[in-house]
Amino acid sequence: MKNENKTKEQFLSELKELRQRIAELEKSESECKRAEEALHEAEAKYRSIFENAVEGIFLIALDGRILAANPAAARMMGYDSPEEFITVVTDIRQIYLDPDHRDELIHLVQTKGVVIGFEVQTRRKDGSVIWTSANVRALRDENGSVVGFVGMGVDITERKRIEEALRKERDKAQKYLDIAGVMIVVIDADQKVTLVNKKCSEILGYEDQEIIGKNWFDTFIPERIRDKVKSGFTKLIAGEIESFEFFKNPVLTRSGEERIIAWHNAVLRDEAGNITGTLSSGEDITESKQAEEMLQKYTVKLEESNSLKDLFTDIMSHDLLNPLGVIKIATEQVMLMEPGGEVAHDMLLMIKRNVDKLINMIKSASMYAMLESAEKLERSNLDLNEIFKATVNNLKPQLEEKNMTLEYFSKGECSLKANLTIESVFSNLLSNAIKYSPSGRKIEVNIMDENERCKIYVRDWGYGIKDEDKAKIFTRFQRVDKKGVKGTGLGLAIVKRIVDLHGGRVWIEDNPEGGSVFCVDIPKV
Ligand code: ADP
Repeated sequence: MKNENKTKEQFLSELKELRQRIAELEKSESECKRAEEALHEAEAKYRSIFENAVEGIFLIALDGRILAANPAAARMMGYDSPEEFITVVTDIRQIYLDPDHRDELIHLVQTKGVVIGFEVQTRRKDGSVIWTSANVRALRDENGSVVGFVGMGVDITERKRIEEALRKERDKAQKYLDIAGVMIVVIDADQKVTLVNKKCSEILGYEDQEIIGKNWFDTFIPERIRDKVKSGFTKLIAGEIESFEFFKNPVLTRSGEERIIAWHNAVLRDEAGNITGTLSSGEDITESKQAEEMLQKYTVKLEESNSLKDLFTDIMSHDLLNPLGVIKIATEQVMLMEPGGEVAHDMLLMIKRNVDKLINMIKSASMYAMLESAEKLERSNLDLNEIFKATVNNLKPQLEEKNMTLEYFSKGECSLKANLTIESVFSNLLSNAIKYSPSGRKIEVNIMDENERCKIYVRDWGYGIKDEDKAKIFTRFQRVDKKGVKGTGLGLAIVKRIVDLHGGRVWIEDNPEGGSVFCVDIPKV
């Protein structure tokens, strides 16, 4: 009974298990069905994509056999249907025009797994050739071994044709640019070179590929003017200045040599009118510029020696002849006189005065000639007061002769770096003040130390100088009035040249009490 009961219990539990199993089986059967349905659905979806895709899709075995192709693929290759395509073209390599490409794609997919944008020429059913671009991915089995690949291809013949036409146009334009005898460079808004012609590469001494992409200013403009040229370009690009049309600037070549270029510039704009860069054409004017500079130098030198020749001719024919005439007559008279007499003595004094005048004139003329050709003067530490005192000593006889007094004001030492010719500034200004004042008047001299500069004022109570004559009397041959005054007209020209060579300034002011004030301002170093 117990066994029977056990058997019954067993039976019941087995029955329960069986029921559970049946339920599970029923469940898994419905899941299977659902999975099957989903699979069908997905398959239909993928098939629809495959059938309707615009791109040609190819399923290819590792040995090159075409396993499947969609209608777009067949259409692209000129076949009526995928079936016809697959039947006629058994191996994908058959459609590649270039034999070198035949194994390349398979090799690339095997080694890389994915190939993007593989561009080849392919032959269609009717024999016509098209360019195709394919993106290809390797298909692998569960072990990861490549078993084939799937590719998507598009016809890029039209794009290639446009690219080729553009390339031809560009080559043609580049050829024209290369024929041009001037250098041409295009710089974008970021200061980078985007185009150069042959002449530009030749002058700079680089291959064009070494120039393209470089910052034009950092690479090819000498450092000393770089910031200035850059800022001009930046303003131009920002639209802050209208144009930058013509200028002469050097460029730095590979060898470090500078060539001077005469530039013409034009602004480049996009369709919207925004400035995108500049196009510059430049002519190498280094040689002509150098020749021009040489010529200018020679012209200046020639003018200088011409004016010196005129100066000496003028001095010889006018200034020297007068005193020499006086000397000749006086000598003849002395020769007829009794030696030792008072009249003979006066005559000899007159001869001496005229000889001194001649010596002074010749000294002035040679000093003027020296100063004219000097570009700078050696300078050493000098005290203007000392120089002044030495000059006054030499002028004492003239002061006494005209019964004139000299007042001198100075606040201590006034040292500066100067050339000894500065002495001539004092001697000429003082002797003029004596010459161009009536007897008995006074002269006042001020020497002032003003921080970085020394100032000299020579004030007289003489005949004065008209405003219209003030500037011109510093030029040689500009004598206001020759009558009654004996001079070469060189004195103030010498003063001005010496002051100029010291980096200073000389000018004339009126003395409110009648007469003139000659003012000199010289930097101490
Ligand atoms: P020069 O005295 O030999 O004629 P300068 O060059 O020294 O040559 O002077 C040029 C001219 O300037 C003089 O002829 C004179 O007319 C005028 N001049 C120069 N200094 C004075 C002065 N202190 N007062 C008036 N006229 C002057």
